Amino acid sequence: MKYKTLGVIMHDTCNAECKICSLSCSPKSKNSLNISRLKDFIMSCKNTSIVQVSFTGGEPFLRYEELKELIRFTVSQGFYCNVVTNAFWAYDENQAANIISELKAIGLSSINFSIDNFHMEYINKQAVFNAIKACKVYDLPVVVAMCKLKNERLGNLIDELDADYPSLNILINSCLPAGRAKKTIEREHFVLSPLANNLKCPYEGIITIHPTGKIYPCCGHEVFTTCLEIGDYEHLLYPDAIKKIRNNCILYILRNYGLEPFVQWFPDIACKGKSEFVSPCEICSNLFENDFRFMIPKVKDFINEKFHNISLK
Ligand code: SF4
Ligand code: SF4
Repeated sequence: MKYKTLGVIMHDTCNAECKICSLSCSPKSKNSLNISRLKDFIMSCKNTSIVQVSFTGGEPFLRYEELKELIRFTVSQGFYCNVVTNAFWAYDENQAANIISELKAIGLSSINFSIDNFHMEYINKQAVFNAIKACKVYDLPVVVAMCKLKNERLGNLIDELDADYPSLNILINSCLPAGRAKKTIEREHFVLSPLANNLKCPYEGIITIHPTGKIYPCCGHEVFTTCLEIGDYEHLLYPDAIKKIRNNCILYILRNYGLEPFVQWFPDIACKGKSEFVSPCEICSNLFENDFRFMIPKVKDFINEKFHNISLK
């Protein structure tokens, strides 16, 4: 297990209220992290495997001064720094250029823009185009992330971006059935695939602090509806969090064996009668959304069988 990135969801307030938002962010959401405590946590990641801190939301640019303070601090501690945004602030080319040049000057390493049919109900796509243009001028690496449902048409948008920026890094993700998306979108509209394709935990080396302060062992948005949190950033620093992850027998199985053992042991809880899923994380959220301590004896037996008396709590 090696974490490379600390993901920080600064707050869940957003100027948009996208139907596909897997965190249910909106202008009314008010959970947010304390900057001074966050700095302590970031500092505690020094001399560990963490190389990058990524700030996201909600919309992190709604608190631009705090965002800049965190970027400066993160960079001063020797980490790469990334921000994820819907680019609402880039409403004209000059404004986009001013902000990107400022962020580049204080050490931001890369930026991700979210744009798709759902974001465009709230954010003018020209803002994202302005922001990308500024990033090209100031040589700031960009990723554009799009979210899709089944039968979603993204071709025109991709063609438009491609025409201006042929080397642009565009990621297309399936919309996750979590948060507002789970409540507002009918299941048949998600991109589903058979259970057999969905049994590996894709934890992706990211440890995440949620706006409620809970620390989670991955960044899959379904995880935030589970009881898999490993503590609270008010009480834990990064090395403590890692110790708790290492000693957690459920996470040990998830990382090393994926979801397959759990699906075999507890098929009804894991699948809820379904045979197709958007992602492994959906099965994970079924399994761990409620108190799962009753699973621990089974898990320990499995580990003992494999490793003869390995000691995990
Ligand atoms: S998907 Fe992104 S832009 Fe849309 S409401 Fe959620 S955080 Fe805001
Ligand atoms: S399967 Fe569970 S632990 Fe693994 S990335 Fe998904 S939500 Fe996280």
